[in-house]
Amino acid sequence: MEWQVNPTSGPQATKPKAASDYVDGQRLWQRHLDMARLGATGNGGVRRLALTAEDNEARGLLATWAANRNFDVSMDAIGNVFVRREGTDSHAAPVLTGSHLDSQPTGGKFDGTYGVLAALEALEAIDTAGFKTRRPIEVVSWTNEEGCRFVPGCTGSLVYRTPADLQRYLVIKDVEGISLGDAVRAAHAALPTIRQRPLGGPVWAFVEAHIEQGPELERQAKTIGAVTGIQGTRRFEITVHGEDAHAGTTPRRARKDALSAAVAMVAALEQLFYDKEDTVRFTVGRFEVWPNAPSVVPGKVFFTIDFRHPDDAVLTSLGDQVASICETNRKNSTVDVKQVIRTPPIKFPERIVAAVELAAQRLGLPTMRIASGAAHDAQNLFHLAPTGMIFVPCEKGISHNERENAQQADLTAGARVLADVILDLANE
Ligand SMILES: [Zn+2]
Repeated sequence: MEWQVNPTSGPQATKPKAASDYVDGQRLWQRHLDMARLGATGNGGVRRLALTAEDNEARGLLATWAANRNFDVSMDAIGNVFVRREGTDSHAAPVLTGSHLDSQPTGGKFDGTYGVLAALEALEAIDTAGFKTRRPIEVVSWTNEEGCRFVPGCTGSLVYRTPADLQRYLVIKDVEGISLGDAVRAAHAALPTIRQRPLGGPVWAFVEAHIEQGPELERQAKTIGAVTGIQGTRRFEITVHGEDAHAGTTPRRARKDALSAAVAMVAALEQLFYDKEDTVRFTVGRFEVWPNAPSVVPGKVFFTIDFRHPDDAVLTSLGDQVASICETNRKNSTVDVKQVIRTPPIKFPERIVAAVELAAQRLGLPTMRIASGAAHDAQNLFHLAPTGMIFVPCEKGISHNERENAQQADLTAGARVLADVILDLANE
C-alpha cells in the first residue's frame, strides 16, 4: 500500500477545483455586448435611465439568462431584481452580490452592468461546478443607482436597507412628473414572469464588483482592487443675493454684485481645499447666474460644492469652514449656505477585504488595496451585513462617459475572484 503523495504529480493533479475555474470569460463579455444594445447611443455608450423601457428590457434579459439556469427570479416593491440559487439551508440568510443596470444619460457599457453580470457569471460558475452551498446566493440589480432620473441615487439599496421608508421614495418624481411608484408598477406590468417578493430581508454578506472608475489600478498594473472603503461626502448649496443693477450707470461702490462675491468665495474655497497630497476632492459643479444678461450687474448666484474625503475628521474640519469663508467673502451681498448631503466615510470589514485579496493572490492576479472615490450601493448594504467590493481596471479611469472601456481579461479576473469569495461566504 502506498500512502506517499507523489511530489512530481504537481499541483494540477491534487488541487481541488475552485468555482473560479468555471467562470466563462467569453460568455461574460458577450453579455456586456448584449446588454449594451439596450439603450445603445450612437457613440458606443449606453443611455439606460432607471425604470425606463430600456432598463426594464435589461431586467428582462437578466431574468431570461437566469431562468435558463432554473434560478428563481423576483422583484421587490422598489424594483430591485433578485436571481436566487437555493442553499441547502433555505432559511439561512443569503449572500448577496450585484450592482446596477441603470446608467447615466451618456454612460458606458460597464458601470454597474459589470457588477450584475459578474455576479450572474459567478453564480453560474458555482452551479456548473456542482457546489452545494449552505446559504442561498442571490444576484441583485439595485434600482436607480445613478440617481439621474430620480433623486437621490442608490434608491433601491437605500430602501432595501430601510423598508419603512418605501412610501417616502415612491412619491419622488422625475422631470416629466412620473413618480417612482408608477415607474415601478410599470416595470412589474412589463415583466409579468418575474414574481414579486417582499421588500428587504436578512443578508449574510454583500460583495459588489465594479469597474474602478479611476486610474489607479491601470497606473499600478494591478488587476484586482480589494476595496477598503468608500470616502465620505459633504455637499453644500450656496446662494448669493445681491441686487440687479444697470451695468452702464451703477458705480462700483453702489453695486451689490452677487457674481463678484461668488467668484471671491470660490477662489478662497479653492485655497482652503487645496491639498498637496491630492486626496481632497473639491468640486464646484454647478454655477448659475441671474439674470445672466450682459448689461445687468448679477443680482443672484447659486452654486454647489461637492467635497469628498476618506477621513471623517478632515470632512469635519474643512467642511465646517465653508460657511465662514463664504461669509468673509460676501462683500456687500448676502449669502446663504446650506449643507444638503453628509455621508460619512465607510470602512469595509477587514475580513471581506482580506478575502478578496487572498482570492486574487490564490489566482495569481496582481492585487492592491484601494479606496473607492465614487459612491456605490455597497454603502447601504454596509449597514446590514459584512460588505466589500472588488474593483477591476477601466481604460484610463474614464467612466460616466460613452467611451468607458475595459479589458475582457480583467472583467473575467474580477468574476473569478468574486466566484471564489462568495462561495466561501455562502458556506459560512
Ligand atoms: Zn456604478
